[in-house]
Amino acid sequence: MDSMEYQDKYVTKDQRQKLQELVEYARTHSEYYKELYKKVPATIHSLEELPTTRKSDLMSHFDDWVTDKSITIDELSRFIADSSLIGSKFHDKYHVAITSGTTGKNGFFITNPAETKLSAKINKKSKFSWMGAGNMAKLLVRGVRIAAITAVGEHYGFISGIVHMKSEGRYWADRIRVISIHDPVSRIVSELNAFQPTIIMGYASMIAMMTSEQSAGRLAVKPVFIEVMSEKLTDSEFEKVGSVFHVKPYQMYGATEIPFASPLCKCGWYHMNTKAVILEPIDEKGEHVLAGTMSHSLLITNLLNRTQPMIRYDIGDSILINPDKCQCGNKNPSFKVQGRSADSLHMVNDEGEQFMVPALMFVTLIDKFVQGADAFQVIQTAPSVLEIRLQYPPEIKESLRDQQWEQLCDELKKLLQDRKLNKVTIVRSLELPKREKGGKFRMVVPYRR
Ligand SMILES: [Zn+2]
Repeated sequence: MDSMEYQDKYVTKDQRQKLQELVEYARTHSEYYKELYKKVPATIHSLEELPTTRKSDLMSHFDDWVTDKSITIDELSRFIADSSLIGSKFHDKYHVAITSGTTGKNGFFITNPAETKLSAKINKKSKFSWMGAGNMAKLLVRGVRIAAITAVGEHYGFISGIVHMKSEGRYWADRIRVISIHDPVSRIVSELNAFQPTIIMGYASMIAMMTSEQSAGRLAVKPVFIEVMSEKLTDSEFEKVGSVFHVKPYQMYGATEIPFASPLCKCGWYHMNTKAVILEPIDEKGEHVLAGTMSHSLLITNLLNRTQPMIRYDIGDSILINPDKCQCGNKNPSFKVQGRSADSLHMVNDEGEQFMVPALMFVTLIDKFVQGADAFQVIQTAPSVLEIRLQYPPEIKESLRDQQWEQLCDELKKLLQDRKLNKVTIVRSLELPKREKGGKFRMVVPYRR
């Protein structure tokens, strides 16, 4: 498909106008884009006139990339290294979010107050319309109590936003409970039972796990709204959550870089948020793909963020554009996403029961203990064996690597013990993290029979 055809079909006049403005802003305020767009004409006719961007390139040119010259990677790194600052504003105004990211390398993302407000507005509007008047009324009667089940201790976007909200006053401080995904399942369950949240927010794998707990009768909560963060529920998990909690879980397709890219509709499709983003599914050669074909990757342009322009940013997801009009009535193009499903490791616990461990539980823990590593990967080589591959830059000394490994092992053992998984062995692999045949990098690779 040539680019004009895609553009004519899926990019509105308004989006093109916003892109033109963003490009102009980027090339005049960011040294990185000034250089990158040297040969780009002043007026953009086709999306393909703009070179694509990647997280690793933008991150390695951070100081030239950001449009506020007072921000440096060194200062921001110091801020991020301090976990007591989670939820605080950088330079007293920037909201900070990091990604552990699919390449295993961290990305740092910041938004100014106007950008943060705009994102929050889009997010709120989308949630309210999903909930509908009936559930909104239920929520008012029963009271707002939000349980946020998430990774804590790092500046991840969600926890950073939640901690900030809690710090704003008693209203939210009393109504939000943060629950760490690293806590033992039994503790998470008893906290939820005691708090009786009306809103539950968490990673797909945690929501799926809580669904099993509710279905087994150990958990007894009646949420009015469930929001799935970061990962995606499989279709069968989506159905199961719905039937166990009597609430259809809400999901948004997005990423830390572009938080509110596209909400899910009740027909099960994500609809492009044409006010916030431009999405371009591409094949291996970087050319646009037709509706009905799974893409190799996805380019996202964030139309809202001027602090860190992300234009034709390769996010690595495979999507499929709906060739038909969606039944829900939303006229924006709709799509499905592959390759983001919540990876879970199936294991057998000490009592011989099948047990599902969310992959993110390992990812967030490892990320914390292997400071300075370029990448890591967990491979479940047998049902009870986890092999961990680490890649360090040459300047990180062997002694530090060994020390980090020992700490990590202790923490992983605790996590496994908590879940009665004492038979699981952890192996330090001599191999380096590897990509899959298609080029996709998976941080956790479950065992396949
Ligand atoms: Zn729809």
